[in-house]
Amino acid sequence: MIEIKNKKDCCGCYACYNICPKECITMESDNEGFWYPKIDKDKCINCNLCEKVCPIINPVKRANSKKIAYAGINKDDQIRVKSSSGGIFSILAEYIIKNNGIIYGASFDENFNIKHKRILCNTDLDLLRGSKYVQSSIGDIYKQVKSDLESNRQVLFTGTPCQVEGLRSYLRKEYVNLITMDFICHGVPSPLVWKKYLEEMKKSKQENIKNIYFRNKDIGWKVFSLKIIFDEKIYINNLSKDLFMKGFLQDVYLRPSCYSCKFKKINRVSDITVADFWGIENILPKMDDDKGTSLIVIHSEKGEQLFDKLSETMILNEVNLNEAIKYNPSMIKSVKYNEKRNSFFAELNSVKALTDLIRKYTKISFEKRAKNKIKSIIKRLVR
Ligand SMILES: Cc1cc2nc3c(=O)[nH]c(=O)nc-3n(C[C@H](O)[C@H](O)[C@H](O)COP(=O)(O)OP(=O)(O)OC[C@H]3O[C@@H](n4cnc5c(N)ncnc54)[C@H](O)[C@@H]3O)c2cc1C
Ligand code: SF4
Ligand code: SF4
Ligand code: SF4
Repeated sequence: MIEIKNKKDCCGCYACYNICPKECITMESDNEGFWYPKIDKDKCINCNLCEKVCPIINPVKRANSKKIAYAGINKDDQIRVKSSSGGIFSILAEYIIKNNGIIYGASFDENFNIKHKRILCNTDLDLLRGSKYVQSSIGDIYKQVKSDLESNRQVLFTGTPCQVEGLRSYLRKEYVNLITMDFICHGVPSPLVWKKYLEEMKKSKQENIKNIYFRNKDIGWKVFSLKIIFDEKIYINNLSKDLFMKGFLQDVYLRPSCYSCKFKKINRVSDITVADFWGIENILPKMDDDKGTSLIVIHSEKGEQLFDKLSETMILNEVNLNEAIKYNPSMIKSVKYNEKRNSFFAELNSVKALTDLIRKYTKISFEKRAKNKIKSIIKRLVR
């Protein structure tokens, strides 16, 4: 039976919850808003399936990834503008739907919590399109994926690397009709911080939220603009000004497992990995129009075959993977633990204004600012 001794050893993937034959596992949120399995010991029959499928205890192995890397852009500009990077997810998803397949990915629920969802048609793809920078809850989605696979439907499952590995571990066998797509993952912020942030936003605007875009591109792709549409008003701010994004990217409130992530690696169990192509202006300047370019890494035969069929719909250039990930180290390396994290969460539940708390914990000291300035001057001189 699974027992979490250290929170960093659970990525919250829900594989144990989905496999338990006695349904005696519930996923419960802790005081930071991250969910962990809780077992009803009276119902447990000690079958140990939960431990067997846990991707942290028993990582899924892929001997050798193909490691073919591309810079890619979806030729459909309207779709690309609605996507976080180059719109590659939509190309894969539309193809699978055209072939009567099913797509799984992260969407907002009616209260803007993030949950995985099963999608059957192109119009509903809008729900999955675009990054949501908060941990997405899987619920019983792995069971639904398995049932679709066993009914011989083609399935595209998309999620964080740990969710893809959680699914593969839960399934415990290869399915020819399953394609998985993960991404380079910085880490996932706390759903509780997100909930509090939205409550504060609604209070300050005195209106309800109609829609949210984490990566609005009105003023460019590289600036990470968060856009919130209220009944009448619109909020838009880039990553240097929006406090939720600032706290996320300064690693103040990521899940504990994200600081020592076991899923950041080259040999992934997914078929395809996608990401923002950071550094595209240096590697392939002609593919940088600040509307979003994707880095695409193909790991498997299946991924390669699918990709070859779709290459006509993209502007594509093969690149050197090692060079590309120099600009995107999250492919292989976890972020450093933020020493202020514990104090932040100690204050979170008693604080009146979340934004004041984030401001306090994202303030960069004079010494650090000076250091950053010197670093950027040296970088410019070296170039
Ligand atoms: C939490 C998070 C951290 C990321 N960190 C990095 C990073 O460090 N470096 C980098 O280059 N790229 C990162 N990305 C990936 C990047 O933001 C794009 O999502 C990716 O490049 C795909 O873009 P696209 O244009 O092809 O499609 P889009 O339409 O933008 O992709 C949407 C896809 O992402 C999935 N998705 C969205 N939100 C979530 C979520 N919360 N949990 C699981 N799946 C989700 C959807 O299911 C859908 O499949 C991150 C994404 C997320 C969600
Ligand atoms: S040991 Fe078996 S019955 Fe007990 S919690 Fe794990 S999966 Fe469920
Ligand atoms: S299977 Fe996933 S949710 Fe369950 S303990 Fe392991 S990492 Fe945590
Ligand atoms: S950083 Fe690792 S543990 Fe955290 S969400 Fe991403 S893949 Fe999962």
